[in-house]
Order: sequence, then C-alpha cells, then structure tokens
Amino acid sequence: MNKQLLRYFSITILVFISIVFLFSSFPPTSSPQEVSLGSIVERIEQGDVTELVVEGDTIRATLSDDSILETRKDSQSGIFESLAQLGVTQETLRSIPITIQDESGFSYWAGILLPSLIPLLIIGGLLWFMMRRAQSGASQALTFGKSTMKLFNSFKNKITFSDVAGLAEEKQELMEIVDFLKNPQKYEGLGAQSPRGVLLLGPPGTGKTLLARAVAGEAGVPFFHMSASEFVEMFVGVGASRTRDAFATAKKAAPSILFIDEIDAIGRERGAGLGGGHDEREQTLNQILVEMDGFDKDSRVVVIAATNRPDVLDKALLRPGRFDRHVLLDLPDINDREAILRIHARNKALAKDIDFRPIAVRTPGFSGADLENLMNEAAIFAARKNKKQVEQSDLLESIEKVLLGPEKRNRAFSKMEREVTAYHEAGHALVAASLKHADPVHKVSIISRGHAGGYTLKLPTEDRYLKTRKQFIADLAVMFGGYATEELIFNDLSTGASNDLSVASDIARKMVTKYGMGKFGPMTFGKTQEMVFLGKEMTTEKNYSDVIAHEIDTEVSRFIHLGYSLAKDILKKRKKLLEIIAQELMKKETLEKEEFDALIEKSKLKQLEVTL
Ligand code: ADP
Ligand code: MG
Ligand code: ZN
Repeated sequence: MNKQLLRYFSITILVFISIVFLFSSFPPTSSPQEVSLGSIVERIEQGDVTELVVEGDTIRATLSDDSILETRKDSQSGIFESLAQLGVTQETLRSIPITIQDESGFSYWAGILLPSLIPLLIIGGLLWFMMRRAQSGASQALTFGKSTMKLFNSFKNKITFSDVAGLAEEKQELMEIVDFLKNPQKYEGLGAQSPRGVLLLGPPGTGKTLLARAVAGEAGVPFFHMSASEFVEMFVGVGASRTRDAFATAKKAAPSILFIDEIDAIGRERGAGLGGGHDEREQTLNQILVEMDGFDKDSRVVVIAATNRPDVLDKALLRPGRFDRHVLLDLPDINDREAILRIHARNKALAKDIDFRPIAVRTPGFSGADLENLMNEAAIFAARKNKKQVEQSDLLESIEKVLLGPEKRNRAFSKMEREVTAYHEAGHALVAASLKHADPVHKVSIISRGHAGGYTLKLPTEDRYLKTRKQFIADLAVMFGGYATEELIFNDLSTGASNDLSVASDIARKMVTKYGMGKFGPMTFGKTQEMVFLGKEMTTEKNYSDVIAHEIDTEVSRFIHLGYSLAKDILKKRKKLLEIIAQELMKKETLEKEEFDALIEKSKLKQLEVTL
C-alpha cells in the first residue's frame, strides 16, 4: 500500500526472525553431545548411565564420566515405551534414576505462543495502522473542536517595539495596552475598565502581526495567535467551539494576548452574504462577541485583531467593549522605510559605505514586508556574485526584483507621477485649509493607497451627526482641489482624480435629492431601499418624471460647479503656497498635521467663508 505499511511488515518479520534465532541458539546447560536414541540405549545396557532426564521430547543421559548425551524421542510415545521398544529391560531401567522435567521456560512458551502470536501481531498492526491514517487524514474526527492556536511565548526570540521600525504613533497608542497588562493594579485602583479589543487596520505587510507580537513582548505575556480563516473549516459548529476553546486557553494563561489574524474572514457584515443567514462564519462571529462580552472585569486578556478590509467588518464588532480601539497602520514613508531597512540589515553582512537613504527614496509604496524581502534579495544577489558583503549595487538591483515580484501590486511611481500626485494632494489640502467650513487636514501623503496616488486625511473636529449645506459645498471644493490643481499647474488632467469626482457627484446628487438643499426646496426624490443580500446594495426606484429628472441633473451640476469654481479661485490666489506644500510633500512624502499647520501659519492664510 505504502511505505508505512511496508515498514510495519518488515519490522514484524524481523522480530519473528530474531525470536526464532534466539530460540534456536539458546544454549542448553553444559552443551551435551547429540547422539541417536540407539547409542543411549547401548550405554544404558553397558551400565554407563548414571541419570536420565526427560524434558519434553528431549532425553539427556549423564554418563559415569559426567559427560552428557542428548537425543530426541518420538513425541507420541513416553520414555519407558520408547526405551522398551529398543529392548531395555525393566530391571535395567529401575536401576537408573529418571527425572521428568517440565519443558524449560522460554523455548517452551515460544514454541507454543509464537505460531498463534504472529497472526495476532499482524492483525493488530494493521488495525493500528488504519486508525492512524483515519486520524491524521481528512477527518481528524477526535480533535476537530479544538482550536489550532499557536502560542508564541518563547522568550528567546522575543519581539519588542525596538524590532518595529517607525509607527511611532501606533506604538504610542499600544503602549497603553502594554502598561495595562504590566500594571493592572494602577488601572483597577481607579475603577478603569480593562481594554478588551484592539483592531489593527492596514494594508498587507505593514506590520500588523509584528506589532501585535511586539505588544506581547513588551508586556512579557503569552501571545496566542490564530488565523480567522482556520476557524471556518469543514464541520459546521467547529468555528464556534474553536473560538470557545481559544478564549478559554487565553484566559487560563491570563494576563495574555489573543491575536485574531485576518478577522474579516469571519467578521463580515452579518446577513450580507449569499447562501442564507446562519452560516458558519456568522456563528463563529457571534461566539467571539459572546466571549468578549463575557470577560469579567479582571480577566486580563486583551484581544487584538488585524484586518486589511475594515470596510466589510460587522458593526457589532466595533462597538464599545469589543474592538473599540482602532490603530491604523499606513504604508511607511521615506524615513520609516529607511528605519525598516536598517532593522532588517541587522543580521546581514553589509559593506561599510552602504547608504539606505537612496534606497528609501526609490521605494515609495513598499510595505515593511517588501523592504524585508528587498534586503533578503540583496543578500542573495551578493552571494550569487561570491561577495563577502552586501554592497549598495546589490540593494539597488533588488528593488526591481521586488517590484516585479508576483505579489507586488503597488508600484513605485515615476518622477512625473510623483510630482503630479504631490500637487494633486497639496491642492486638496490647501483648499481644505482655506475654508472655514471644511474639516481640518490631519495628514497629507503621496504614498499610494489603493488606486489613488496619495491621500489627504481630513477629520471633523467634533463628532457630527448633522451636516450643513455650507459644509457640503466646502467638501465639494476640497474634493475638486486635486483636479483643479492639476489643471492649473500642468494644464492637463490625470486619471488620479476619478475617485474624487465620483464621490463629489454622489454628494451633490444627495444634496439635491435627499437633503432638500437644492432649488426644489423641502422635497426628496427617489425611493431608496436597502438590500441586504448581495453586500449592502441600494436600489433606487425612480418616482418622478423625466422632466424633473432633467432638472435634478442641472441642479446637481450647479452644486458641482459651485464647489469647483470655489476650489479654482482659492488655488489661483494661493498658488505660491500650493507650490510650497507640493515641494515639501515631494521631499517628505508625508506631512503630519503639525508640519502642515506650520506651513499654513507661516503664510498667514486667512480662512474664507463659503457663500452660496
Ligand atoms: P501584516 O500582518 O500587516 O500583513 P506582518 O506583521 O506580517 O504584516 O509583516 C510582515 C513582515 O514585514 C514582518 O515580519 C516584518 O519583518 C516586516 N515588517 C513590516 N513592518 C515592519 C516595521 N514597521 N518594522 C520592521 N519590520 C517590518
Ligand atoms: Mg499578518
Ligand atoms: Zn484626489
């Protein structure tokens, strides 16, 4: 059948042979001389035999000179019968002491048991073999409800924050968790609730897993790692029971960290999938929620989850007491890239004149994992050329290798693309900073994120449930800031603005049809229905005439042009500042709020009102 079975058989045969060998070479006491039964009879008649010992079918005769003769009799007949048949008289026999012994231990038992034992051994072995196959094979019938969780707790290769380059703010946020795990008394004394769930969000390879492990390393607590996709396997109900098992294990080891990787595999919005409501994912998700709610105040287990698809997560996961802390990891900027390269250079032999800066400059859009890969490729390049050290040229060469790699979707952009993106983003940021009703800029970056070249992150100053018409117009202006800048500076347009445009026309349409902000006054158009099967889809039923439809379109376009001309005006008037911001962006790639605000302050910019 296969190797294992073959091995089993050869072992059985070997054991059998060695038993037989042992049995046959077992030396009888003071090795006797084998003779025929007839010659023993002869010696008896000569009066030469002093003793006869019968053991099974073996007859041993001790002679007067103490030597021993041995022979075998017919097993059907007894000793007296056998000797009598050969003519030994009763009298002669009576004069010799005859001892009849039991057959001796080992050889006797071996002779009896072995023939019946061997088939048993073979059958038993086959059974054992089949059971092993059944277990390790597809069914795993006995262990399927247990979590397949990995424990990383070896203090030997402990990972701490010093192994994570950059991500300063993110580390700062997680420091609180570390502190809680280390000094719980401090928090409990104040009646503070333990943090329960932290959600790490970010594109693949940005160090989510690494950061979670570093938190455990910093706090010196066990780290349990499980991948959400492992939960949902073959059997229905396994996910939920595995979840229970995983939480129980983590609780037993408390204080500890339970890390759920790729939680989007189970945490997708419930009821949003095809194929019925109560599927496996949903039950697993429910179990996670139940477990997290069930933590008592002093069970010091912090659940960290990671995902690169925050958009699909179920709202229930994000509620207070669950994954209510969110840490956003971005692709590294130029300084962070340099730092990451340095970290992964630690265990490599490098030439002395290596400079990481030019490498960092040429690798925008690379994630931490890509940079690690780059360092490794460089070492391979160097080895292939039989060098003792990695040189600058190896690093430069490996950039392309990583860029062309199969999994690489991001790409480093050309100088021209970089410039266009820098101006585009500077345009968004400047318009936002110029308008009183726009949300303040938190971060401007030209590092690619998804399809867009870069991004400008604006956050409202306070939580807002209501939004005014002026704020919407300001939003539109900010959205057109990128488009208008490209037009103004390059006298050309790129595809980079397409997402801005579609979001803007969406907003403008809603202003007219849903919020009653257009010329129709307090009226809404179109009946919207939320459809929960097939993702979260909206279908709109048209409940107005074609004439109105045309008027809606003109009204939407009026709002769009309002925003657009506002943006254009601002940018024309503040072109100098626009240039300054764009140049700074090209240099630094990312401007944090403080850096950006400093630029704006220097120019004594006045904020404008939105007028309708
Ligand atoms: P994610 O979980 O976000 O997909 P990982 O944490 O698995 O990414 O990161 C993959 C690898 O990339 C890590 O093992 C690490 O070597 C490297 N890496 C990513 N980010 C960093 C960083 N900030 N500093 C050092 N190494 C990093
Ligand atoms: Mg990961
Ligand atoms: Zn844009």
